[in-house]
This record gives sequence, C-alpha cells and structure tokens, in this order.
Amino acid sequence: MSFDVLAIRDQFPILKRQVNGKPLVYLDNAATTQKPQCVIDEMVDYYSTCNSNVHRGAHFLADQATRRFENARDIVQQFINAPQREEVIWTTGTTESINIVANGLRTLLSPGDEVIATEMDHHANLVTWQHACKEAGATFRTVPVTDAGELDQAAYESLLNDNTKFVAFPHVSNVLGTINPVKSMTAKAKKVNALVLVDGAQGAAHGWADVQDIGCDFYAFSAHKIYGPMGIGALWGKTSVLENWPVWRTGGEMIATVTLQDATWNVLPYRFEAGTPNVGGAIAMAEAIRWFSELDQEAVLAHENALLAYATEKANAFDGLTIIGNAKNKVGVLSFTLDQGHPADIGFLLDQQGIAIRTGDHCAQPLMSRFDVPGTARASFSIYNTFDDIDALFAALKKAKTMLS
Ligand SMILES: *Cc1c(COP(=O)(O)O)cnc(C)c1O
Repeated sequence: MSFDVLAIRDQFPILKRQVNGKPLVYLDNAATTQKPQCVIDEMVDYYSTCNSNVHRGAHFLADQATRRFENARDIVQQFINAPQREEVIWTTGTTESINIVANGLRTLLSPGDEVIATEMDHHANLVTWQHACKEAGATFRTVPVTDAGELDQAAYESLLNDNTKFVAFPHVSNVLGTINPVKSMTAKAKKVNALVLVDGAQGAAHGWADVQDIGCDFYAFSAHKIYGPMGIGALWGKTSVLENWPVWRTGGEMIATVTLQDATWNVLPYRFEAGTPNVGGAIAMAEAIRWFSELDQEAVLAHENALLAYATEKANAFDGLTIIGNAKNKVGVLSFTLDQGHPADIGFLLDQQGIAIRTGDHCAQPLMSRFDVPGTARASFSIYNTFDDIDALFAALKKAKTMLS
C-alpha cells in the first residue's frame, strides 16, 4: 500500500467546493475533520433502509438496527483495543464522556482528596474536574506547561501523592499539537493508586488509542475528529471501575427492574446509556473507523509529519511569526501569532482567500494566559491536506500581513 493523497481527497466531497470564490483550503482539522463519502453513505443507508429503535422492537428492522448498532460497538472496541465490548459506552462525544466520569467522581471525592489535570487541557477536561472538586470540597491541581509546550514531568511527579485520587490529561493537545507521554504519566499515577482518564479527542484521531497499552482507567473521544459524524463518541472504562461507578442519566434502557418506589440498574454498557441512542451516528462512526483503519498507517503518519515539517519550516522563515508549541513530539497542529494583527483579523483575512483556520482561545483559556497571548491562529493538518495547501496558507498570510501593517 502507498499513500495517494489525491485519491484520498477525491473521497471527500466537501473539498471540491469553493469558499469566497476560491477553492477551499481546509486547515481546521483539530476542530473537526471532514467526512469521506462512505461515512455519509452509511448514515444515509441506515436512515433509508433500517431505521428503527434498538434493543426493543420485536420486528425485522429493530433486529437489523440492533445488530448494526452492536456491531459498531465491536468495531470501536477493536479500534481502542478494549478487552471487553461492554466497556464501550456510546456518548455524544468527548465532552459528555468526561462529564459522565466527573459526575460520578464528585460523589466519590471527600475534602482532602486531590485531583490533577493540566494547564494544556481543553476546557472539557479542565472545567469538569474543577467543578467536581468544588462540589466535593476536594483540591484541584494542574500540571504546568513548559516554554516548548510540553507537560512539566518533574512538576507532575511532585504533585502526585497519597491524596491524589484522580488524574486527567490530554493524549494530544488541540492547541500545541504536543503528544503527551500518556503511558508513563499513567504509570506514575498508578504508583499512588490514582484513577486515570485520558482525553483522547485528538489522540484517537491518529489511531493511537490502545487503552490496554496506555494502562488508563478511562479514555474519552469523539467521532467527528476522526472522519465520523458529530453528536457521537465513546467513553471507555475498565469493567472493574465502571461497574462501581455511579450512574449518570437515569431513564429507559439503563434500568433492570423498576417499581414505583425503586429501580435497579442494567449491566454494562447499558447502565450508562439511558434513552434512545444515536444509532445512525454510531454506525457511521464505525464506518469512519473502518475506513481510517484500512489505510496504511505508517504512510498516513509520514504524510502528516511531512506536512508539519514543511509548514514549520515556512513558519520559521516568516517574518514576525511566532509558533506557540514546539514540543519534540507533535502532530500536525501549527498555532501561531503575528507581530501585527489580532488572530481574529488573521482568520478573517485568510477566510477571504478560501483558507479555513481556527482563531481564538481554542477552548483553552488558561493555556493562552500561560503563553501570554489573547489567542492564536491555528492551522491543523489532516490526511487529505497537501503541500499546495500549505503554500496557499503562507501566500495568503503574506497578503494578510501587508493588509495588517
Ligand atoms: C475537541 C476536543 C474536546 C471536546 O470534544 P467534543 O467533541 O467537542 O466533545 C476535548 N478535548 C480535546 C483535546 C479536544 O480537541
């Protein structure tokens, strides 16, 4: 197998459109990736041929929908190397996955307990723990970020102690692109018997979510950052931990028996899946995983690394540009500021030229404070981006710069 970027691009209908009279150059992949035709088709096929509620109806379509839905769970299980299919819980995405865990955690924490997250976390993996700690009267601590944009491992080790009950960190930073040493960070937390959640929103997107290898207790991710639809994602948790974790939403499907005064809970994974799930989304998510997994992973990685290296070289040569995040291990995310011009103005001027990037705080306000910037402009690359896209980015930046000066 080899990597043919044009053949890949051809499968993404949205990449053929124009924006502001210019061919679209989509460089906002850390916010969401585009969807290949097969994923769109799978969603349409589900609603066209077998839409039905799952686990309930005693009829042909309900049966077929249930089979496809549960088969999708198996595909997610394999993708993250989970030991058991019951450990995969459907959610609306990373944010909800983290909230399910935080909702239980707040009832398990006592004053004096400590929870650790990091200065580079997305608000979804920061505010949740902050809030849970406030409610429980527990202490919330954060691992600082170095100038290069890496987690300060020495500081992390000094934060860990016997009171540390829970540790959360991102697999990959959505702002800096930093790939964190999740396996060693998990091992360190395990020495003090803390539970560990990895925010895998960006890590799963690269196929790196091997939960057994990482050794964590929870892993959270979204389909829409890995070529799947919005509104669906998963929470993985170890059976031994999930079985005793407080339930979150109550309602249909998550119960075993109900009387007017009492209820007992269903087995995993249904115990955490109250209400009608996003069946079409789950099936299309599985199709995205199938599509992605069939690609030559080494070639994909080599392509994305080459894009990042090329963009970094151009950025370093660009007068007045500062890269935020120079970690040794990073994915194709390039956050930057310009001497002249607010990030929002840069984003606007690039958009006029058909180039989609993201600007602002990227749901990481404390990280912006850490680097003393109001926000950054962020170009993030994916499988279907080309060297031409990067040339277009820097040509457009040059134009923007003259307009801003
Ligand atoms: C996108 C993202 C989230 C939130 O994901 P949602 O799909 O919006 O729930 C959390 N953490 C990181 C690192 C992200 O990139």
